[in-house]
Amino acid sequence: MKYISEYRDRTLCENLSEKIKRSHRKPINLMEVCGTHTMSIARNGIRQILPETINLISGPGCPVCVTSQYEIDQFIELANQKDVIVTTFGDLMRVPGSRSSLQKERANGADVRVVYSTLDCLAIAQKNPAKEVVFLGVGFETTAPTIAAAILAAENKNLKNFSVISAHKIVPPALVALMENAQVNVDGFICPGHVSVIIGAQAYAPIAEKYHVPCVVTGFEPADILQGLFMLVEQFENDEAKVEIAYRRTVTWEGNRRAMQILDQVFESVNAEWRGLGVIAGSGLKIRDEFSEFDALRKFALDVPYAADPPGCACGEILAGTKNPFQCQLFGKSCTPETPVGPCMVSSEGTCAAYFRYRARDIEL
Ligand code: SF4
Ligand code: SF4
Repeated sequence: MKYISEYRDRTLCENLSEKIKRSHRKPINLMEVCGTHTMSIARNGIRQILPETINLISGPGCPVCVTSQYEIDQFIELANQKDVIVTTFGDLMRVPGSRSSLQKERANGADVRVVYSTLDCLAIAQKNPAKEVVFLGVGFETTAPTIAAAILAAENKNLKNFSVISAHKIVPPALVALMENAQVNVDGFICPGHVSVIIGAQAYAPIAEKYHVPCVVTGFEPADILQGLFMLVEQFENDEAKVEIAYRRTVTWEGNRRAMQILDQVFESVNAEWRGLGVIAGSGLKIRDEFSEFDALRKFALDVPYAADPPGCACGEILAGTKNPFQCQLFGKSCTPETPVGPCMVSSEGTCAAYFRYRARDIEL
């Protein structure tokens, strides 16, 4: 197939759904790791065309949602520093910290700017030599290489007033943490498409093997997702646990070596706190000592107290896949996209935002 429309073809999707129904016998819990999958599943009504005994669980696959409250508070503190311009991708603006949000701080006079690429930040730094320009680095392996490239470019240009807070996270250690969590009941992973373009499908092989859990990398169109679900159900029914790719038009077994090399040149892995999952070994990316002049956490002495998640918010359980948004007491009441309490309702890839927008019809409010 050559065109996107073919992956949305109704007959093809109905045929795949029939194939799934014919293969499926045992109840199965499948987690979509990626937030864009969550959105696509909700938007295309995929739950509604599957047997009830195929349970799709949303996972920790939105980088904005898994950013801890403490990190959000650090961003807000930074925005309040004198002569600092904070640059960020738009989704972070409305995420509530413990006392404020970047959007509120901007309304109060802080210089917070939404950018569409890290190159924009470099241009802002060049135009404002008397200010410090800081980029809020939130993202998975998909975006981290571009941030690494921006740091290398800043070094090349000898830009001294540009730095990054690295709150990046990497996906495979989170899958390990989920499999080690006794509360989490996952029989197979719908692995993220974009992240896998960079890290390659082989990154999941140790997880599939150690935890005997099928892993299938899929794309984001309905036929991609249904094909991935079919492959997962087949493996599960045959008691297999291997890594497969249902997204061969972009994902390879090895991934993008050049991107991984840049990432490794600039960052080293460290333990990191994920909202909902706690501290996960080796799941964060710290700027290496060689590039410390571009590390905003070393440049600014931020004094931020540790803060717990907002009272009543179930984002933690939702990101761990142990609750769905309808099981949060605030969903659709005090927490809506206009008045978000937690990040899962803010981000365009957030599970609560997806459920609110498309209201999964098979789950009652
Ligand atoms: S960055 Fe890519 S893989 Fe990660 S949540 Fe977003 S769409 Fe999914
Ligand atoms: S509905 Fe709101 S408060 Fe509840 S889990 Fe989702 S984002 Fe958090």
